[in-house]
Amino acid sequence: MQQPSPLLTWKASVDENLCVGCGKCTEVCGTGAIRIIDKKAVVDFDRCICCAICMKTCPRGAITMIPYSFPILKREEDFDEIIAQLKGIGAQLEEMERSIEEL
Ligand code: SF4
Ligand code: SF4
Repeated sequence: MQQPSPLLTWKASVDENLCVGCGKCTEVCGTGAIRIIDKKAVVDFDRCICCAICMKTCPRGAITMIPYSFPILKREEDFDEIIAQLKGIGAQLEEMERSIEEL
């Protein structure tokens, strides 16, 4: 049986050498994917929906978008998991839209 292709996307990645921990990226991230830990921004890939707003906001140019592939799906349970994740992303996007409309 042919293996399904991994889902490809992009995720925000922080260059620790450039990040000064100012927190501007955490303020604009609509999904709460970024936290400041030990004065450096840390991205939770599970929450990042690759909107790139943080990258455009960072005054230090410390954030880039990097290719990311979900693990290859081999079992039916994996499909259920990825569908659940995609539904979560959809809900996060709706929340972001609402936040943007309120600006
Ligand atoms: S905006 Fe840039 S410099 Fe500031 S915390 Fe985020 S990644 Fe670091
Ligand atoms: S790309 Fe968007 S969702 Fe991902 S960390 Fe940056 S602001 Fe948050």
